[in-house]
Amino acid sequence: MDLIFEKSRIGRGCTVLPECDVPIAEIPKSEARACAPRLPQMAEIDISRHYTELMKRTHGVNDGFYPLGSCTMKYNPKLNEELAALPGFTGVHPLQEESTVQGCLAVLEKTEELLGEITGMDQMTFQPAAGAHGEFTGLLLIKAFHKARGDVKRTKIIVPDTAHGTNPASCTMAGFKVISVPSNEEGCVDLEKLREVVGDDTAGLMLTNPNTVGIFDRNILEITKIIHEAGGLNYYDGANLNAVMGIARPGDMGFDVIHLNLHKTFSTPHGGGGPGSGAVGCKEFLAPFLPKFHVVKIGDEYAFENPAQSIGSVKAFYGNFLVVVRALSYILVLGNQGIPEAAGNAVLNANYMRVKLQDTFDIAFNNICMHEFVMSMTKLKKEKGVSALDFAKGLLDHGVHPPTMYFPLIVDEALMVEPTETESKDTLDNVVAIFKEIYKNARENPEAMHEAPHTTPVRRLDEVGAARNPVLKFEKWK
Ligand SMILES: *Cc1c(COP(=O)(O)O)cnc(C)c1O
Repeated sequence: MDLIFEKSRIGRGCTVLPECDVPIAEIPKSEARACAPRLPQMAEIDISRHYTELMKRTHGVNDGFYPLGSCTMKYNPKLNEELAALPGFTGVHPLQEESTVQGCLAVLEKTEELLGEITGMDQMTFQPAAGAHGEFTGLLLIKAFHKARGDVKRTKIIVPDTAHGTNPASCTMAGFKVISVPSNEEGCVDLEKLREVVGDDTAGLMLTNPNTVGIFDRNILEITKIIHEAGGLNYYDGANLNAVMGIARPGDMGFDVIHLNLHKTFSTPHGGGGPGSGAVGCKEFLAPFLPKFHVVKIGDEYAFENPAQSIGSVKAFYGNFLVVVRALSYILVLGNQGIPEAAGNAVLNANYMRVKLQDTFDIAFNNICMHEFVMSMTKLKKEKGVSALDFAKGLLDHGVHPPTMYFPLIVDEALMVEPTETESKDTLDNVVAIFKEIYKNARENPEAMHEAPHTTPVRRLDEVGAARNPVLKFEKWK
């Protein structure tokens, strides 16, 4: 398929801009670009066909089952899209007077209140644009807190080995040293090892809960206590909140900072990588450090406030606002009964699939799980040479998106399955049958598994090449 730039023909553009109805402002020469941008020129029908063709080549939640572990690829109700598309939300400008966007500020304030109730946190910022960005922001809050007290020797963040991969990366970006703690045979943090590594250089702990093997750490209260007693703060990676929302609150478990992935748990389509929202919540004592553009309500009026010792801005203005609109709509529609029910169904669906598959597949830490579980394909690899990758590619021929592969790192040949709550029993039964059929094929005809997928627009890609030598820019112009 040709790129849109290759299809472009000079003179075929279809710009339909309205007449300019404001005085034209001259752009200073130093700010102006040297030549016109090279934008593709196409007729509207060709643009429409181009994107429809692209759409047919991808797999989204609307195409079929999408159990990409840790990513919560659930169905996002169309109602939330409709609300986010209201002109009152889409037609505003961030530089507008506060008095003219009171409704939008009310959305930010109300969402902060409701998410505060769900997480047990006191204040929240919506500036971060994604989960990892939220982690970075939350860690800067921890850093600012210690610094404000003159406690500068706290340079280390403890990260369990079942943490999401972004956790150690964010610690490093925020200027901390990462101390890894291993898990025990149940997939929980090894308390003895944790006690060994805490000290007066501990800035905090960063914990993903439920963790990447789908387990809620049963010692959570003990863990956060150990860190607090050592003078550190507790950071909760809440990207997996889908399993516990409305049921258990990180704020009650001893956590001081949390980020949520509104685009995962609270209903924003995110398969294409954005825009997202990594909302960061914190306890009152950290609120003075929050990023700028925090909404406050004074009497009946809403206004932006810059917290006293703010770490500054981590993104322009107040973040990806329309993601917050969807989250508010989602929470209000489900209500305080629907939210825990959704979480319960996410856990039920994962356990249903886990139990249906356990006679055929090796399940890592095979116990009651939360929203996801991890299978290990080690045996199939050893006996038949069929890897987790081969298996995942085989699923594509059945219209099923593969689970997350080769993660978490503590499980060999891992496939991490997160069915989510929006899938029916029929779908789960169908997928279980597909998993078992592929397994049977893999045992009987392992060679053929290396050839999958057969039915997709592209077959096996050079993933290493794509990562090492990415071609991100179109160079050849007609
Ligand atoms: C997805 C995820 C993240 C990262 O979120 P992004 O929005 O992709 O940056 C962090 N932690 C966990 C547990 C996740 O599942």
